[in-house]
Amino acid sequence: MARMGEPGFGNRKLPARARVGRFLETWLGAPLNLLEAALGWVIVKPTRWAMRHLDGLSYRLEGTLLRKVLSNTLFPFTIALSLFVGFKMVENGISIGTLLSFVLLPVIFGLYCAPFERLMPYSRNWLEGGNDTAVDIIMYFSGAFWSGVSKVLVSALFIVGVVEFLEPYGHEYWPSNLHPVLQVFLFILIKDFFRYWFHRALHEVPFLWRIHAAHHSVERLYWLNGIRAHPLEIFGQALFYAIPLALVQPSAEIALVAIVLQLSIGIFQHSNIDLNLGFWEYIFSIGDNHRYHHYPDKGVGDSNYGGEFIVWDILFGTFHKPKDERPHDRIGIGTAPDYPMTVAGLLIAPFLPNQKVFGRGSDEATEGEIKPSAADQPVLHPAE
Ligand SMILES: [Zn+2]
Ligand SMILES: [Zn+2]
Repeated sequence: MARMGEPGFGNRKLPARARVGRFLETWLGAPLNLLEAALGWVIVKPTRWAMRHLDGLSYRLEGTLLRKVLSNTLFPFTIALSLFVGFKMVENGISIGTLLSFVLLPVIFGLYCAPFERLMPYSRNWLEGGNDTAVDIIMYFSGAFWSGVSKVLVSALFIVGVVEFLEPYGHEYWPSNLHPVLQVFLFILIKDFFRYWFHRALHEVPFLWRIHAAHHSVERLYWLNGIRAHPLEIFGQALFYAIPLALVQPSAEIALVAIVLQLSIGIFQHSNIDLNLGFWEYIFSIGDNHRYHHYPDKGVGDSNYGGEFIVWDILFGTFHKPKDERPHDRIGIGTAPDYPMTVAGLLIAPFLPNQKVFGRGSDEATEGEIKPSAADQPVLHPAE
């Protein structure tokens, strides 16, 4: 498919004209590059080969009643299932086993979602994307690591003192008599209010956009790449959440079930499953809402900031969902089609002093020779 990194299986590197960045990516990033290639050969290639066997069935499913039923029921069924599984996991209190089972959740979600993406895809152009899954696997584990480091840093920055000061008041105000399912949704809704403003700032403040660009560099959406984020974004999020979370402390059980539900909504935010979501898209930040969010031009892409809910966008005027329109699948960053796709490149990119090196033009071109590609023109002007 077009614009999916360098020809072949490897992920696109930093442009050669970013000389220092390219040097660091190649040499300092060597261990990451090796890991990326190894995961590609051991996990990504064999899984994709196996998945391709579903393509025949996928074409036979098109237009059938079964596909229609699945596209209407898969989302609400998965949400109900996640709540059921979440509450079962914390039924007898929280042990080390409960926490360890959280590590397995992405694997379970993958086994559940990946076949549906192949059987009823939103876009067949999004079924495969170079070796991007290896990057997302590394990003998943590094994200968990950086999230832990952020918590230590939050303590080191004495914010923990403020959090501890606020915490008792939070317990006092939290409506613990409410039905547990409602508590889970209320908790996510409050967290999402802060996520909304943080995400909006990531788009509207130029320096923060440099960091968030790693998430928007993806050129296809599928179940796993919602977690792709620069460590600085993860750190910012930890800071941004610490105080509000202390203010609305629910029980640890409610917080853990909320994590299961957030993971499951997050998967439907990025998944390439063609679903008929109807009114769910006016409650949650899923499906077409997030496809518009990944549009390459900022006119449309600066919308639908909600992490789980879309209600804050509706309230604050950033909701974008034209009636009877199906979003196209040419996503990415319109002004930076050369954005790197390797783990090392993604980590380095925000620190490059000259962000213009990501501008359009071939890898070997100098800035003066930048030529707009005819194929990309409609992507930059999709406003209709
Ligand atoms: Zn964004
Ligand atoms: Zn996204």
